[in-house]
Amino acid sequence: MARVAVIGAGISGLATAVMLGRRGHAVTLFEQETRQAGEDLNRDFFHWNRPRVPQAVQPHSFLAPVRAVLRAEAPDVYADLLALGAREYHDFDWFGEHPPHRAGDEDLVTLRTRRIVLEAALTTAVRREPTVEVRRGCRVRALTFGEGRPARVTGVRVGEQTHRADLVVDASGRRSPVPGWLVEAGCRPPVVESHRAGIAYLCRWYRLRADGPRDPGRVQNGSAGPFALAGVFPSDNDTFAVNLVLSTADPTRGALTDPTVFEAAARRFPATAAWLSLAPEPRSPVLAMAGLDNRWTSLADDEGPVVTGLVNAGDSLVHTNPTLGHGVALGLLAAQHLAAHVDRIAADPAGYHAWTARALRPLFDAQVAADRANEQRLTESSPLPDRRAAALAACAFDDPVVMRARAQVRHLVRPADAAYGTEEVDQHVTAWLAARPDFEPRHDGPTRAQWNALVRA
Ligand SMILES: Cc1cc2nc3c(=O)[nH]c(=O)nc-3n(C[C@H](O)[C@H](O)[C@H](O)COP(=O)(O)OP(=O)(O)OC[C@H]3O[C@@H](n4cnc5c(N)ncnc54)[C@H](O)[C@@H]3O)c2cc1C
Repeated sequence: MARVAVIGAGISGLATAVMLGRRGHAVTLFEQETRQAGEDLNRDFFHWNRPRVPQAVQPHSFLAPVRAVLRAEAPDVYADLLALGAREYHDFDWFGEHPPHRAGDEDLVTLRTRRIVLEAALTTAVRREPTVEVRRGCRVRALTFGEGRPARVTGVRVGEQTHRADLVVDASGRRSPVPGWLVEAGCRPPVVESHRAGIAYLCRWYRLRADGPRDPGRVQNGSAGPFALAGVFPSDNDTFAVNLVLSTADPTRGALTDPTVFEAAARRFPATAAWLSLAPEPRSPVLAMAGLDNRWTSLADDEGPVVTGLVNAGDSLVHTNPTLGHGVALGLLAAQHLAAHVDRIAADPAGYHAWTARALRPLFDAQVAADRANEQRLTESSPLPDRRAAALAACAFDDPVVMRARAQVRHLVRPADAAYGTEEVDQHVTAWLAARPDFEPRHDGPTRAQWNALVRA
């Protein structure tokens, strides 16, 4: 049985603690915040000022690995999540009737919920674990080191106290202090790769009225203009978020924090207009978040681990800009791997670092590539994609074979080349195009002139 200290009770820290606790390991989970999620979801979500977890109020949807890991490791947490209002959406639900089943189709499910609901379910689960102790209001201030080369982390320092552990897990999020502590202690520096994503996120929360219309019709959840993207995040308990994404350099960005301007802009995109036409009740101001980046923090360099007795998981390991919604999936996959191999990782973290490079790093690289393309299109008033690429995207919503490929990519089941590069997908796209000789790529959002006019008005 390993003694594990986890820094940070966010989604990744909570999940790591639950999965370790279920294997009988002794876990101490340190969280600097005193408050915890779960007493009143709406109060926790709308009235909890969380400057250290700014993403908590932004819209989330959870990809297939989140559901798969929870159902495998903690089916009770998954059941709680659904009982609290999270909803499952299969990518084939778009068609009403699902196409004939193929192996793996059953996994192509998104969980639609606010992040707080998952946090609440995990918080409750952690309390049920007899070998997990949660210390809230306890900020880890430093690591303690033992002898060895590379140095061995032997525990954490909280206030005046030292807490010893066989393994320390840094799950302290995207602003982790741990790399700085390692450098201060004279360790070789962690290898950090960071790409600034020049993308600003703005969202506003709504709730469908109990006696109002509830069906937005058959509309996709995303729309694209030449310089802005719009999306809808249907969530738990009749809540949904409207989300606009644009370049941080866009001169109209500031004006969009005014709810009237935000809503007028969102009404120019089919996806968000359909949901706003349901006359929902606004539940929040416009919540903006910029300063997004993609960051990979490896605690190993070419010579091997820079320390032993310490690994990172969740955003402190891999932090991705949210356009692809990978964050929590990557956090839970790391938590699951850690829990399954903790004794070996405590003895030598090299295998964990190799696993993260093999299993998670390609997804980070895919996000970086997607963001380069996104940033270019948002700042350069996007050239339209070529006809074939646009057809591939549009065809998925008519053809289940192409939708399956799209869903496999989205849910991290297969890389894009493998999923889209089959003869079957190629034939279906060709047939779709042949049936639409006049098809041309186009944006369904407003032009720059329309946008500027509504912001000015
Ligand atoms: C705008 C936006 C939208 C997103 N949308 C999605 C999405 O749709 N789907 C998805 O899967 N992901 C999404 N993400 C990513 C997702 O939110 C993160 O991946 C996830 O919240 C990371 O969880 P975490 O537990 O690793 O870190 P955090 O949630 O940041 O938790 C870290 C915890 O550590 C605590 N802590 C920090 N330092 C200390 C210390 N020294 N001592 C004790 N405690 C400490 C903090 O208080 C905090 O509670 C989005 C992110 C953003 C920014």
